[in-house]
Amino acid sequence: MRIRKVPRSNLVINNKIYTRQELADTLGCPRSRIAAYIRDGLECCDEWCKDIWGKDLKRYAAKVRLRNTKAQPDELYCKHCGIPVKILNKEIMITEYKDQVSKSGAYKLLIKGKCETCGSVCVKFEWSNNIGKLKEYFRIVEALS
Ligand SMILES: [Zn+2]
Repeated sequence: MRIRKVPRSNLVINNKIYTRQELADTLGCPRSRIAAYIRDGLECCDEWCKDIWGKDLKRYAAKVRLRNTKAQPDELYCKHCGIPVKILNKEIMITEYKDQVSKSGAYKLLIKGKCETCGSVCVKFEWSNNIGKLKEYFRIVEALS
């Protein structure tokens, strides 16, 4: 399950190692919530996931906070990074779906661009009447570099 509520990371000390129970007590949440954080990407000190660095909890909280923010007009959501990201060279490819028309007569566009951070292809649907806005933020290309 994707976590939306940001852990109260201000209660945690950077250079301290917490057991799951200590971390749950510090954050004032059930221990099962820590397990959910770990499944959602919170890093642990060891491969058995018994202990967690305070600083890793803070990093995780920052990621959840960022993930909750909406993508800016020059960003697409990257599934791999789990957050809205800038697009490599601002290059996007557009596929038109002219048979999928809205009430206002616009048709659907599939936008593809590569994540600047990890190189994964990010996708998003837009309506054709937003093409002018897309051109302000992106360069439309035939193939992604
Ligand atoms: Zn990415």
